Amino acid sequence: MTLLELEEVTASYGPVQVLEGVSLSVPEGGAVGILGANGAGKTTTLRAISGMVRAGGRIRFDGRDIRGLGPDRTAALGIAHVPEGRGTLTQLTVRENLRVGAYLRKDRKAIPADIDYCLDLFPQLKERIGSQASALSGGEQQMLAVGRAFMARPRLLLLDEASLGLAPSTAKNVYDAIRRLRVESGIAMLIVEQNANLAFTLVDTATVLETGRNALTGTSAELKGMDEIRRAYLGG
Ligand code: ATP
Repeated sequence: MTLLELEEVTASYGPVQVLEGVSLSVPEGGAVGILGANGAGKTTTLRAISGMVRAGGRIRFDGRDIRGLGPDRTAALGIAHVPEGRGTLTQLTVRENLRVGAYLRKDRKAIPADIDYCLDLFPQLKERIGSQASALSGGEQQMLAVGRAFMARPRLLLLDEASLGLAPSTAKNVYDAIRRLRVESGIAMLIVEQNANLAFTLVDTATVLETGRNALTGTSAELKGMDEIRRAYLGG
């Protein structure tokens, strides 16, 4: 079943229209990628979904129209957005960040076990549990941002450039953990990623945006086989 569906979504910053009609869908438990050059509108697409920018067109989540709902409302419906730049609360410790992620949950008793699960998923965080987020490395902050999003027990995770600024081995670790999270939790994922090689290790399908529109959509295998994708995103 389709969990998230965008049809002809538009968005502008002031007079500048940056999304000119983006369509995509994420099945329940599925993982979908958004690829594209800088400025193509990838980040704005995620912001339109979580309600951080005003959008036109149609956005449906779990069968209901969510276009126009703000970030608090979309979060309450089960959409967790890990923004570019990670968005951890730098003055709080790792443990406090994980707790904050769970603040909307009613099942308070299940929270300690989920914190343990995050620490199992990202063992590096275990050693830093009492450290301020500001003291973490970039990779650890990214792990914390994903862990914090998981603590909300969302149905859909929006993940923006999780590999940005990380060493290749760290980025791979982060994606390995996200892949495991996907398998074990069944959380659907919509990810923006500049590194298409990494994205293709996680997603089933992807869409390539060009100047605010879908240019190509296909399965990971189909896209990896296309010369234009190889040239533009896979380093040859
Ligand atoms: P990147 O990888 O560079 O983040 P992107 O595909 O995610 O690229 P967006 O961040 O969605 O692209 O930006 C799309 C366009 O909107 C770009 O031209 C960008 O300069 C512009 N833009 C983004 N945020 C704002 C803003 N807050 N105000 C005005 N223009 C913006």
